[in-house]
Amino acid sequence: MQVLTTVAAVRAARAGLGDLGLVPTMGYLHDGHLSLVAQAKGECSAVAASIFVNPTQFGPNEDLSRYPRDVPRDLALLEAAGVDLVFTPEPAQMYPAGFDASIVVGGVTGRLEGAVRPGHFAGVATVVAKLFNIVQPTRAYFGQKDAQQSVVIRKLVRDLDIPVEIVVAPTVREADGLALSSRNSYLTPAQRVAAPRLFQALSAGQRLFDGGERNADILRNTMRAMIEGEPAMQIDYISVADPLTLQELSTVEQQALVSGAVRLGATRLIDNVILGEPPA
Ligand code: AMP
Repeated sequence: MQVLTTVAAVRAARAGLGDLGLVPTMGYLHDGHLSLVAQAKGECSAVAASIFVNPTQFGPNEDLSRYPRDVPRDLALLEAAGVDLVFTPEPAQMYPAGFDASIVVGGVTGRLEGAVRPGHFAGVATVVAKLFNIVQPTRAYFGQKDAQQSVVIRKLVRDLDIPVEIVVAPTVREADGLALSSRNSYLTPAQRVAAPRLFQALSAGQRLFDGGERNADILRNTMRAMIEGEPAMQIDYISVADPLTLQELSTVEQQALVSGAVRLGATRLIDNVILGEPPA
């Protein structure tokens, strides 16, 4: 496995890699990341991963400085998973002095996470576009866990004609339903016990829908009430939205993205389920 830290080295290595899958990450890897690697391994002749805690997608009062990091462990996991190339740049490699560009994807970035985290998706779109230009993957793999991120990246690629196929893979969960996340390491034992409540609420919404409920307010109110029953948890938003435009729905006609963001103390958790997904 090649571990590279410069754009020039990645460009030189990429030439020999053929049909290449890219898994962009911020490191502190878990089985969710590794499921993306495994899927890429199955679909591409070579797999690259990036580890970069991208400063520009963090707001001024967010957790950039305390974001968990363990690059030696990450590299061991990626090597064991059969990754061919890892790109681990320093911030100055990605944002050298004088760097002054930003990609703003409109519309879908104003809602949900974008409404709570202004500037977040400009940071994401810009770094992902840079990674696509540097690594030039055939396919790039993202998790459904960050549903809005996938919507933004699909739009980025379509609107700017970036020649990469976007693959979105299912959310990997703990046995109690909590979506795996590097940020789960922030949770105290008591918060960890409370944390599955978000997915339990989303699942209750899913069950109501499966039972025939189509009124989005009823779904939202039911999910909110379940979360409000957990005193340690504060709601940022609970949404029943169109999966492509992310506009809130009043009635679920066919599909809906049901997503939520909550805070447990200083830790933010996000999760989602899709209603009306065609059977796999
Ligand atoms: P991150 O390191 O948190 O930026 O995540 C890197 C990639 O892994 C993103 O595409 C995430 O959507 C994806 N990911 C994070 N958590 C999970 C999970 N529990 N299941 C599947 N994919 C995930």
